[in-house]
Amino acid sequence: MKRRGKKSYLRFVALGGGQEVGASCYFLQINDAYILLDCGKSPNGAYFPDFSTILKPPFLESLNQITQIFISHSHFDHIGAFRYLSSQCRNAGVYATPITKALLFHILWNLNEWQTSPPEDRREEEEIRSEAAIRSIIEIGYCQEIFLPEYTVTFFEAGHIPGAAMVYLQTEDRRILYTGDFSCHAGVLTSSYILPDSIQFDTMIICGLHAKHPHLRRGRNPQSQFAFVKGALERGCSVLLETVQLTKGWEVLHSLNKAMENRRLPRIPVYIDQKLSLLAEEMERMHIPVRRAWNYVGIPPRGEQAALIGRFAPAHFLPVKVDFSLHPTYRELADFIEKYHPKTVVLVHTGSAEPRIEANCLEIELMTRTSWTGHFIYAETGEIYSL
Ligand SMILES: [Zn+2]
Repeated sequence: MKRRGKKSYLRFVALGGGQEVGASCYFLQINDAYILLDCGKSPNGAYFPDFSTILKPPFLESLNQITQIFISHSHFDHIGAFRYLSSQCRNAGVYATPITKALLFHILWNLNEWQTSPPEDRREEEEIRSEAAIRSIIEIGYCQEIFLPEYTVTFFEAGHIPGAAMVYLQTEDRRILYTGDFSCHAGVLTSSYILPDSIQFDTMIICGLHAKHPHLRRGRNPQSQFAFVKGALERGCSVLLETVQLTKGWEVLHSLNKAMENRRLPRIPVYIDQKLSLLAEEMERMHIPVRRAWNYVGIPPRGEQAALIGRFAPAHFLPVKVDFSLHPTYRELADFIEKYHPKTVVLVHTGSAEPRIEANCLEIELMTRTSWTGHFIYAETGEIYSL
């Protein structure tokens, strides 16, 4: 029910992914709406959201009282707990962009996350229910306003990976932006974030992976490592482009194919594994072409010079670690916050501080900027904040 003329009541709890990365799941109460922003867990299960804080007064008796779940993008640390939550939050409307929904289906279903836990006898029933839960996700396009009882919500393009969205929530008196993971520059497969010029918000819940890394310098795309790859290929070596994350594999594949297409790298067969191939296929269904004619699935035959993307390769392959960040740098985070100058910044999803660096360095940096008058919350997992 809308509270005409009354002040909105906001409370926030990071259930995971507060001052750490791994299980991004944020509870936001707006009056009588109980919202989850993302539902992540870490791929190895080490991080899982902790719901104990919100399953007691003054919050909820059961997760069935959750009213909406918004999924910002399809990285595992933002979707991994979806299956659990879809079984617990049976009354929640779940919203995602069409690409995020397709990737979520693919990553959680085809890549076997499903088959890890239900006991044999319950598996079929569980799988049918889980598949139905994904299919029932409500697709929301960028810039499309959705009117809900306590607030309206709009998704905006976040960059970062295809389908990623920022979530903008408005009541009569409050405007809140949840950035999700985002990027301030064009990536391999995305543009930078896109927000309307006129947008304003009083509260920003920001994923700030590099908020404690003022000195970190990491490439923005895999091409920064290609000089070494070029030298190795020209010497006749086979190379393994090592990626730690499956979803980063498709960015590496796309960049490698582009470089070979433009003759910046010698064109040789590129091998990918089955999982990456399935992911690329899914992207192609969403009209984002990744694979080329010289891409193959599996292990290269003996004696053939090849590039391989993944984690393992035959012993004679020269390993090249391909490391790049899809997140804003420290400086970009400071500029982004300064540009929109919300009254309150709720910082989440931060990597641990660089050695000899104050954990609140971003706040200190902004305090030195004369236009900055807001205040910072470094949200700790499990703590309750009134906003
Ligand atoms: Zn991400």
